[in-house]
Amino acid sequence: MTPGTPAPRQIDTSTAHPARVYDWLLGGKDNYPVDEAVGERLPPEARDAARQNRAFMNRAVAWLAGQGVDQFLDIGTGIPTEPNLHQIVQRVVPTARVVYTDNDPIVLRHAEALLVGRPEGVTDYVEADVRDPAEIIRHAREILDFERPIALSLIALMHFIADDQNPHGLVRDLLAGLPSGSYLVLSHAASDIFPDLAEQVTAEYAKGGIRLGFRTRAGVLSFFEGLELVEPGLVTAPEWFKDGPAPEPEGSGIYTAVARIP
Ligand code: SAH
Repeated sequence: MTPGTPAPRQIDTSTAHPARVYDWLLGGKDNYPVDEAVGERLPPEARDAARQNRAFMNRAVAWLAGQGVDQFLDIGTGIPTEPNLHQIVQRVVPTARVVYTDNDPIVLRHAEALLVGRPEGVTDYVEADVRDPAEIIRHAREILDFERPIALSLIALMHFIADDQNPHGLVRDLLAGLPSGSYLVLSHAASDIFPDLAEQVTAEYAKGGIRLGFRTRAGVLSFFEGLELVEPGLVTAPEWFKDGPAPEPEGSGIYTAVARIP
């Protein structure tokens, strides 16, 4: 390491981390025994939810790229899982520019997989915390053109931000920096669809040292205040699709929506 280069943050394998538990739920290999221990204690529906969530991300960003959106700011990216967002959107728009951010050092460690995109496009990764929107926007401005629409994606992120951490204010601050015609893509675990499961999942994550704040439909809807919801509105993950094929109908405790900034 050259003098003056900050030491990379260590991977802490003594406590569970959200990105790694989620990776375990998706059947990935980039997790540790502490993460697996949390995952193993969760009801099987948690794995369904992770799969449904990822499939929603896939459909939503592909649809946005099809609408001509070619700039993406993805916060809470997670450990790379193919297809990653840039692969999905660059298939539609090879010149798409994607900025990824996550606050977990393990995601940075795997960022190489996020940075190999189409030569015509740009992918970028920055370690940052959604609780510091100014820093994220500052960095994103180096890569994205804030005079043109940007899709901000917060996929399965905001339920890690408890009410006392100002979740709705943070999203408002992020949106305030985006031009008209931009989009918010958000998915969020529900507290009111399968309340018993939601409580069980929250309790198991808490045992692993991870705080979760699942929200009601109204709580999730208020992230979209002042925005124009795109059809079909705020629905569960398998219910959100545009041009077919329709996903297999199934129960889901994940709320999803896409909305346009007027
Ligand atoms: N968006 C991906 C991953 C979801 S898992 C997907 O839906 O497939 C949630 C991710 O949010 C994890 O990678 C976790 O590290 C990240 N995360 C949690 N709290 C965060 C915070 N305060 N700031 C930035 N990222 C955060």
